[in-house]
Amino acid sequence: MLQDECIFCRIIRGELPSVLLSETEDVISFLDIHPVNPGHALVVPKAHLSTLFDVPSALGVAVFDAVRAVGLAVMQGTGAQGLNVVQNNFSAAGQEVAHVHWHLIPRFEGDGHGLWRSGDYADAQQMHALAKDIRARL
Ligand code: AMP
Ligand code: ZN
Repeated sequence: MLQDECIFCRIIRGELPSVLLSETEDVISFLDIHPVNPGHALVVPKAHLSTLFDVPSALGVAVFDAVRAVGLAVMQGTGAQGLNVVQNNFSAAGQEVAHVHWHLIPRFEGDGHGLWRSGDYADAQQMHALAKDIRARL
């Protein structure tokens, strides 16, 4: 996607409104317009990068700092008892905005949200075979 058309780039440039939480040189945070729970926030690097795999390590440190600071403030500001940090990469994983971002979702006991359904016990043979393939790429 072109930076010109990217919805988050447009928010960062001030062309579209957002409910701002924090802003540093490299990272911005604002409330999600379709919240899972009230206070659902997004942490977004200002650079137009598509997925996790495009984020340089040094920027990752700034993102991590923002996730922790904003995450704690979201929990305290909403009175949440928990916080999910979710980060989707590529459309198969539910990424709708192709500008990398982290979801900070405040969670309340008994709020009824489930982010995924666990499968049955994994097949041990398959686990070892998959782990071998994965380790070979590390
Ligand atoms: P994802 O599916 O991980 O790409 O998440 C994109 C998120 O961006 C969704 O939760 C949307 O609700 C949110 N979103 C889209 N447009 C806006 C906007 N203009 N302001 C705030 N959040 C937005
Ligand atoms: Zn962008």
